[in-house]
Amino acid sequence: MKFLLRLLRRLLVMLIVPAIFLAAGWYGGSKYGAPPAVVGAVDNVFAKGRAILTPILGEAARKGGEAAKTAAQQGSDYVVGTVEQMIKDYKERSEEEPGEAPETQEGETPDTDEPAPAEPPATEPEPQPSAAPVQTGDGIVLCKMRISNQPRQGAPGSSIGAADETTTYKGVTLLLMPATKACLSSGYGYRNGKLHKGVDYFSDRGGDVLAAGDGTIVEAVSRSDYGNMVVIDHGNGVYTRYAHLARFASGVKKGAAVTMGQTLGPIGKSGAAPVVHLHYEVLTGGYGTRAKSFGLEAVDPFGL
Ligand SMILES: [Zn+2]
Repeated sequence: MKFLLRLLRRLLVMLIVPAIFLAAGWYGGSKYGAPPAVVGAVDNVFAKGRAILTPILGEAARKGGEAAKTAAQQGSDYVVGTVEQMIKDYKERSEEEPGEAPETQEGETPDTDEPAPAEPPATEPEPQPSAAPVQTGDGIVLCKMRISNQPRQGAPGSSIGAADETTTYKGVTLLLMPATKACLSSGYGYRNGKLHKGVDYFSDRGGDVLAAGDGTIVEAVSRSDYGNMVVIDHGNGVYTRYAHLARFASGVKKGAAVTMGQTLGPIGKSGAAPVVHLHYEVLTGGYGTRAKSFGLEAVDPFGL
């Protein structure tokens, strides 16, 4: 029975590992625009996996011995083979055509005067590295993926504004895209029932996070949800937040003065970010001593 238990355990591991990877990733990613073929394939492999497991367990219960061993081995081989083939197929497909990368997602920032609770670790799907091409130097470019709350009309990959386009809010002039080598992957607004309080700029080409306007850094902290996060006070009750930086550029610390376009650090995926992106917020209100930036109200940078 020992070998049988070992085989069954192996089979379960073989099912559970892809289940976490695929179900939480691709299948869970269906709402983020995973190709239907992938979702279908995942459905299929789990249906077949279940169909195989059921007789194996029955066989083991009835007979034990060689027959069960063979059945378990066959089931295990089938699952491993199918998953490997699926991954191979999917990789080939995503190299052929630019697929869709999942949208990024932040937790909702609290409106209370308490600092935001830590987000659970990201369970969102990892993107296929080649799946979301990023244009550079072409202005504010829409990523080639499904974009929630797209702020302006435009086809995937097209520009919806100049790279240095600014907007003025309460007398403060801010860059609309405080990032380089990035594309807009999500706008401000309700997303999966939660208010996305900022704009996401996806980057897989080593882009930088820039200060959107002149001001003073009031927060440069590392958090479990927003990762390496910078908040700038621009005066007139206007603030901006930058989340998930890979690290802080030198001199980026509380109290430091910054100018528009100054590099704050590389775009990253620190904290609960599933992909490399800048989560950017424009905030207004009174900056409290307890809640700090989380007591501020977010506004749509494209709606100012
Ligand atoms: Zn975001």
